[in-house]
Amino acid sequence: MAGASSAIALAPDYRILLLDRAVFPRDKPCGEGVMPQGVQVLAELGLLSEILAGGGTAIRGMRYRNRRGVVAEADFPLGPGEVAFGVVMRRYHLDQLLVRRAKSLPNVTVREGFRVTDVVREGDAVTGVAGYPVEVPSQRLVFRAPLTIGADGRHSVFHGACRLTKTFLPRRRYGVAGHLRGVAGIGSYVEVILHQDGEIYVAPCGEDLSLVALLLEERAMKYFKGDLAGRYLEFLKSTAGFRERIARSEIVPPVLAVGPLGFTVDPCYRPGLLLVGDSAGFLDPITGEGMTLALKSVKAAVPLIREAFAAGDFGAEIGRRYAKRRLELVEDLFRFTRLLLAVSRHKSIADRAIRRISHDGQLFQKLLGIATGARRYRDLSVAEKVSLLLG
Ligand SMILES: Cc1cc2nc3c(=O)[nH]c(=O)nc-3n(C[C@H](O)[C@H](O)[C@H](O)COP(=O)(O)OP(=O)(O)OC[C@H]3O[C@@H](n4cnc5c(N)ncnc54)[C@H](O)[C@@H]3O)c2cc1C
Repeated sequence: MAGASSAIALAPDYRILLLDRAVFPRDKPCGEGVMPQGVQVLAELGLLSEILAGGGTAIRGMRYRNRRGVVAEADFPLGPGEVAFGVVMRRYHLDQLLVRRAKSLPNVTVREGFRVTDVVREGDAVTGVAGYPVEVPSQRLVFRAPLTIGADGRHSVFHGACRLTKTFLPRRRYGVAGHLRGVAGIGSYVEVILHQDGEIYVAPCGEDLSLVALLLEERAMKYFKGDLAGRYLEFLKSTAGFRERIARSEIVPPVLAVGPLGFTVDPCYRPGLLLVGDSAGFLDPITGEGMTLALKSVKAAVPLIREAFAAGDFGAEIGRRYAKRRLELVEDLFRFTRLLLAVSRHKSIADRAIRRISHDGQLFQKLLGIATGARRYRDLSVAEKVSLLLG
């Protein structure tokens, strides 16, 4: 998401080499819902019509269900852009679509199946990367560039190679993601179903396929040991309010697990290097904003990269400005994510919060407004935060 969209955004003006160890298409564990602000960036990159034509499903809002069966549902409000809907598309297809678009651009060379293992340096500046084709591990290759964009996700090679401080959040959450065919009652909302061990995310992926992702506390992961797909289905079948809906469903492989999820990175740059997307830090998928944050961090980086090329200066200053700009773009979402993490920590509080927003439409709209960028986090009063916690 971050790498291909950087390439697409910068391709009109620069020669770009896009490296990925994967060969596309490939699945990736994700909730697969791009929220409206992310959809806005995809539209600006000229990708939205192709995504919708290629099977992307427009979603109109969020639906939450607590453990007592109380449901709260609301549509996304219109944010700062033109888009008031989200899009769900299986990462298998979405990422391939982005990579294919990048490949079609004259200035972009895409090399799939290439694993980056290290950075190349001159003094303290990053001047390229080294690695090998996955098929030929003995063939070490070096690529040099005035600017390297690290978009290699949660286990970024740049964290260690550039001695960036990576700090995991104390609360360790894990994701388990898969697809089911034939889930009953799928509408045009992303659904979040509370479970005593975490949350279940359900989203329509088109062609009778639904993404069903679990976000779980670390202690719950033991249950999945040895038979991830089998236990995943058992877990879903034991969930009140969901088991009836999957009585006729079948798993469409693969089922994938990932974690621990939340971490911060400081700084998210070095001279000659900018990190975008998850590699720059990722808190939790609870707000479904990861891809949106990736796209927004690209949006923050692009004008600064242009300035750096114009000035021929790729020193730390551009990185500092990027980090500041990125923080401005994402800080509300980070605060919001932290608030939701606090609410979700104790399931009785989360149950009450859902009950609260089920009968307080104004508060629900405000929360969705913060998630979509229509409102600022500071618009949420202390009384509203407390009311969320008290239910
Ligand atoms: C369970 C779960 C649910 C989620 N739900 C949502 C959701 O509903 N909505 C949402 O927006 N986000 C969600 N996210 C977050 C979202 O998946 C990420 O934020 C998003 O994929 C980040 O994009 P990225 O491009 O930074 O990283 P990635 O998508 O991880 O891409 C990194 C790329 O780098 C490549 N790579 C990695 N290492 C190397 C290497 N050494 N050499 C070469 N290539 C390499 C990988 O092959 C990969 O293609 C969820 C995440 C999880 C775990």
